[in-house]
Amino acid sequence: PPALLLDGVTKTYESKAGAVQALRGVTYHFQQGSFTAVMGPSGSGKSTLLQCAAGLDQPTAGTVLLGGIRLQGLGEVELTKLRRKQMGFVFQAYNLLPSLTVFDNVALPLRLTGLRPGRQDVLAVLDQVGLADKAKRRPAELSGGQQQRVAIARALITRPAVFFADEPTGALDSQTSRQILGLLREATDRAGQTVVMVTHDPVAAAYASRVLFLSDGLVAGSLDHGTPAQIA
Ligand code: ADP
Ligand code: ADP
Repeated sequence: PPALLLDGVTKTYESKAGAVQALRGVTYHFQQGSFTAVMGPSGSGKSTLLQCAAGLDQPTAGTVLLGGIRLQGLGEVELTKLRRKQMGFVFQAYNLLPSLTVFDNVALPLRLTGLRPGRQDVLAVLDQVGLADKAKRRPAELSGGQQQRVAIARALITRPAVFFADEPTGALDSQTSRQILGLLREATDRAGQTVVMVTHDPVAAAYASRVLFLSDGLVAGSLDHGTPAQIA
């Protein structure tokens, strides 16, 4: 079964100016271990798709299944629990807590699920993103690329089934972007995790194994890159 399945997902926003149909019945399978870039013009529904897929927003109609679990059947508490255990988030803004050390920022998602993070586990993911030597630093002491790698380590610590990334390289230079994209691809290739990434950047999309094009709230097309190795 797919890691993530959107079935007829529709989202209508009501506003003073009238109703806006952000998604008009999107059906799509995200296979386990796939890395999908979601592309399309501004306003085509990319962010809404990500929000609905992650259960951060409720579709007006349609269903989202994550690991076979129907998000629409869950209450807020269960949804939060599922999100903390099964989903990882990486956004353009790193959203690190400035008062916490790098170590504590990475350990936080485990603490939120009620687990006591093992020191070695935290250091292992920091090592994975090449920042084991920064554990005691605070975010402000790091470069933007390093902060984004901390954000990825924080997303990796719970070993989520699905990563949601919204313009993860939007604020980074191209060399740093490639590092970040390489880490996401490693998550799919080595650990079988599934990545759904919204991006405008064709270079970022080239790291994906598949591109999903949205246009006006509909799937306008989808492109399979074949194996990621072919595009390296
Ligand atoms: P199934 O996965 O149920 O055998 P398909 O592989 O035909 O069926 O895909 C069903 C849906 O999943 C498609 O409508 C599309 O949204 C998405 N999808 C899965 N694989 C692909 C692919 N290779 N190219 C484009 N879309 C795909
Ligand atoms: P994209 O991420 O591709 O730029 P969005 O998902 O942000 O697209 O938006 C899709 C459409 O839904 C746009 O027309 C946008 O203006 C509208 N929209 C998004 N969020 C809201 C909201 N909270 N209230 C009203 N309209 C919204």
